[in-house]
Amino acid sequence: MDSEKSLPILLTADENENECNLLNKVFGDEFEVVSVTNGLDCIDFVEKNKVAVVLVSLKLPVMDGFEVLNVIAKDSRFADVPVIVITDREDSEGEARAMENGAAEFLTTPLNETVIKYRVHNVLARYENERNKIERAVKDLKIFEMHRSLEIDSLTGLYNRPTFYKKAANLVQAHPETKYYIVYLDISCFKAINDLFHMETGNLILKTAASYFMNKINPHGGICSRIEADHFVLCVPQESFDPDKLIEGLDNAIQTLGISHNILFFAGIYPVNNVYLPADQMCDRANMALRKVKGNYLTRYAYYDAGMREQMLQEQMIVRDMNYALKDNQFTIYLQPVYSLAKDTIVSAEALVRWFHPVNGMISPGKFIPVFERNGFIVKLDRFVWEEVCKFLRRQLDEGVDIMPVSVNVSRLNFYNLDLLEFLPGLLEKYNLEPEMLKLEVTESAYTDNPQQLISITRMFRERGFSVLMDDFGSGFSSLNMLKNLPIDVLKVDMAFVRELEESDRARTILRFVLGLAQDLGMGVVIEGVETQNQLNYISKLGKVDIQGYFFSRPLPVEDFKILYNKYSLNKNENVTIERR
Ligand code: C2E
Ligand code: MG
Ligand code: MG
Repeated sequence: MDSEKSLPILLTADENENECNLLNKVFGDEFEVVSVTNGLDCIDFVEKNKVAVVLVSLKLPVMDGFEVLNVIAKDSRFADVPVIVITDREDSEGEARAMENGAAEFLTTPLNETVIKYRVHNVLARYENERNKIERAVKDLKIFEMHRSLEIDSLTGLYNRPTFYKKAANLVQAHPETKYYIVYLDISCFKAINDLFHMETGNLILKTAASYFMNKINPHGGICSRIEADHFVLCVPQESFDPDKLIEGLDNAIQTLGISHNILFFAGIYPVNNVYLPADQMCDRANMALRKVKGNYLTRYAYYDAGMREQMLQEQMIVRDMNYALKDNQFTIYLQPVYSLAKDTIVSAEALVRWFHPVNGMISPGKFIPVFERNGFIVKLDRFVWEEVCKFLRRQLDEGVDIMPVSVNVSRLNFYNLDLLEFLPGLLEKYNLEPEMLKLEVTESAYTDNPQQLISITRMFRERGFSVLMDDFGSGFSSLNMLKNLPIDVLKVDMAFVRELEESDRARTILRFVLGLAQDLGMGVVIEGVETQNQLNYISKLGKVDIQGYFFSRPLPVEDFKILYNKYSLNKNENVTIERR
């Protein structure tokens, strides 16, 4: 009660001498007793000073005790000033009214020393108690808000990443009888939305998605989170989850915003089969499934399967080891011959890269090229391959061998590096080679990505004497427009056509049409993937085409290729018939 000691007791009574003396006698050691004789002075004092307790007679001049009570008890500024009213012994009605109007306690005259002492102390203790309770509640609220702000994403009100991991683990472990999914959702091209529109628009999309998830998932015992940027993760009981409906509803919710841009959510779904797997790993698995479909407009969600994990581990190994592998000469080129049916001999070769990993053995380009195309390393690797090819050609020339041109793959990422136009001629100069010796294979996807750039770079290469080949023609979204606009020398027809030749009339018709078209446009044709005599028989009827395929030869180590090539060169004039190798 330290603080009260310094606060006075205010006594307000008309004729107060006796009461004042009594109060001083009872409380003199603890409190200073201040007395005033009318209601107005009482209010004035309370406004200007802090007091421990006000004792007020109901009968007063100028402003009676009820009015004083009314002012003090109803004004929030004086909320912690208890008012004790002093009434006449017979005035039980006044007592009741005073209590109704907010008096903390009442005392009756003549005042009794003991009664007054205990009542005042009780009132003060009660008020002190109330004050403590309020302080505690305020503190608790602050702690709660602090926890909340640590647990919640401030933009959307959903759980943040650490909270989600904790709550999802608790949820799946607490209900082992329920099967759950972890669903990882991501918006396609969200960066573009932020760039094209105001940040506020991006935020609005995120908030709309968040409240949609909350409404759909929480009532079914699931939980939702925004774990970063435009990535949301849900943990939801399997029986209540329908991915088609979720995505359709989400599309509708986002469409109501009227933003003139295609905003599409994609989802990866991990069925939780081990509730003790750390939640971050569950999310990684759902995210792996998501990566299978992101940007694919036909399928908007995919389920995780164990193969994806294998693939991810393999990709991690590829990314981890690629730089060292290049320095350590683990990459090497193989050459696959291209035969001319008309000349009945090898007319060129394609350089295809191989990776001999010290632990994992030979890794096929089908595994590492797509990874390198995603992380950009393909640009370095392509340049390495081109240089290896130049070295090979130089050695051949130095050995006095009559060389044939070699084609190299030029991944589409190269077209973003403008020094390509310097680099390739630089290589030729370094090894003293002519541009006709190096043919460049580009894929249709390079055209789809950036037609203008590809057209102008291709034109410049051709002006400098390089041949340009369109690789895998017919595998992607080939268009007649591309053939019209892109100045290329040779079409390499994708092996999918050859595979279907024997069963499909349509494949045969299309192939015939493509060959006619190429001929009319003055382009050469290489048919890839010829594996059987039957395919060869059919193709040989179509006209003058070159062939690349296992029927003649698989891609070979350079030394083996040289042996094969020498054999053909020696027999060039001796009417060699092609045999299966
Ligand atoms: P591509 O450029 O279309 O190369 C032809 C691929 O078809 C090669 O696969 C070759 O081994 C394969 N092939 C050839 N004849 C047959 C056949 O009769 N049957 C079958 N089933 N396959 C045949 P490879 O070497 O696995 O390369 C796959 C792809 O990897 C290449 O397709 C190319 O896109 C890419 N690639 C390979 N080396 C490089 C490189 O140095 N740079 C870049 N950017 N890509 C490369
Ligand atoms: Mg190729
Ligand atoms: Mg090809």
